Amino acid sequence: MKAMLRGIAASDGVACGRVYRLDEPNLHVSQQAITDLDYELNRFHQALEATVSEIETIKTRVNKNLGADRAQVFIAQMAMLKDQDLIGNIEQHIRKRHINAEFAVQLVSTTVKDELAEFVDNPYLQERLTNWQAVAKRLTAHLLGVTLPNLALVQDPVIVVTHDLIASAAVAVNPKQVLGFVTDAGGRTSHSSILARSLNIPAVVGTQAATHELTNGELVVVNGTQGNVMVAPTADEIAVARRTMAQRVKNQQRLEKLTHYETVSKDGVGVTLAANMGTMTDLPRVLASGAESIGLFRTEFLYLDAQHLPTEDEQFAIYRQVLKQLRPRPVVIRTLDVGGDKPLPYRPSQNEANPFMGARAIRQSLAHQQVFRSQLRALIRASAFGNLKIMFPMIATLDELRQAKAIYDDERSKLTAKRVPMGKIAVGMMVEVPAAALLADRFANEVDFMSIGTNDLIGYTLAADRTNQNVAYLYQPYHPAVLRLIDRVISAGHAAGIPVAMCGEMAGDPIALPLLLGMGLDEFSMAPGSILKARQVIRQLDAHELASLAETTVNSASTSQEVVTMVQAAVPDVLNG
Ligand code: PEP
Ligand code: MG
Repeated sequence: MKAMLRGIAASDGVACGRVYRLDEPNLHVSQQAITDLDYELNRFHQALEATVSEIETIKTRVNKNLGADRAQVFIAQMAMLKDQDLIGNIEQHIRKRHINAEFAVQLVSTTVKDELAEFVDNPYLQERLTNWQAVAKRLTAHLLGVTLPNLALVQDPVIVVTHDLIASAAVAVNPKQVLGFVTDAGGRTSHSSILARSLNIPAVVGTQAATHELTNGELVVVNGTQGNVMVAPTADEIAVARRTMAQRVKNQQRLEKLTHYETVSKDGVGVTLAANMGTMTDLPRVLASGAESIGLFRTEFLYLDAQHLPTEDEQFAIYRQVLKQLRPRPVVIRTLDVGGDKPLPYRPSQNEANPFMGARAIRQSLAHQQVFRSQLRALIRASAFGNLKIMFPMIATLDELRQAKAIYDDERSKLTAKRVPMGKIAVGMMVEVPAAALLADRFANEVDFMSIGTNDLIGYTLAADRTNQNVAYLYQPYHPAVLRLIDRVISAGHAAGIPVAMCGEMAGDPIALPLLLGMGLDEFSMAPGSILKARQVIRQLDAHELASLAETTVNSASTSQEVVTMVQAAVPDVLNG
């Protein structure tokens, strides 16, 4: 091999393939005076034709690979390129001001943006703006002679290399086209890593250098289990990678016999293994995963994967489908958790210096009550079709919880008055802010269940941004401070007589499983691909014996390393088997 890049192991598995750089090239445009107008107009029309034909290709491939729904946006984009007002305006700018075509495109884009700025609540106009911006970017790229990447433009599956994969881009990925992900930035619990795991695509994030070191078309081996990328591997190295891939498939097949087994520890303590899901494309994997229920449906991906805020009816249809498929098993549906590393592409963001500490999740829902209320109505209506549990994210204060519940009660009463059919709904909260964990005993009296969100809880406890590779060493799931908080939440929930779940990535981590079982966690919710391994581990563990291990780590351990050593010493056979 030519070189080895090291990063964070973000999604298990090994993949071998050619690099496809997804980063957008620099599209800097400057004004230039034009003397030959015919030449410039001709150049503009050639770029326009090239853009039309490129979007046509993307549309056709997306239609074939991902379905007509997803291709819809490209039909709308094509229409923009045929909009005589917009195109005519660009031509006029070129003619009248004698300026270069790319600068004219930019002027028209600024005008469109300014005109639509005051219509932020009009989904149709916002969608039009988003589509125009996408089209103008592609047109500008053609004028500048650079290529704007799009996965639909590649024929064979590739290894995607990019500086950072934003959640709204990751959610639109076609798993058939992507063999692996490599990024400069990000952490194991960045939402793009979570999506990679749910799609079963090997990923290495936080390499810091991937976009400097890797060029389009270069052959690489991505090892998402060890967190490294081999550049230009030799034939022998490729053969080893292929054997590892085959072994992984075999291991997974071996685990499949556990699909319908119960999740009980060796000493007979039963727990629930649930699946996390984000989009409807996850549902078949969830149903096949051996999960007993859905412990977290991250509804924000429905919003991120759309051109506009999904309507109440669109959401209702999706929630109903999931609830029906799972019935009578419960489905925990979390209300919108946008912000942080999941900004809504079509909602103007506030450019926060510290988005994870900013207007996120329930804070945004309470600030944009129309959106929140429409989601709650969709959920309440869908409850007639299954076993629904609603969960509020990022609760930090009792006041927030009470406000969210009051809005929910209000919508429920209004629908009841209209005789809308509905089922029994449990209402719970995520515990992912240390303040809520410390005060869990108070919260526990006001909810039907709690679910610990360790992805955020770890980050907030150690003040280490979960998406920042520079502080990944501080993002420590087994840190005794984190364990104390988890233990406290579980005890508080049980004292109040309510179940406690965990839906952060830690719930599927084999080192954490013995500790969580020992602490008495009721439900473990994780990526569908982790369920069977977790079941295998739990079935070999003795919950009563582990209670004292959990107690010792919580009370006496001082460092993460000490905790890991204690767990490894307590259950060596389970972890090695
Ligand atoms: C968490 O924080 O652990 C969690 C499950 O929520 P998310 O990862 O979506 O922030
Ligand atoms: Mg969270």
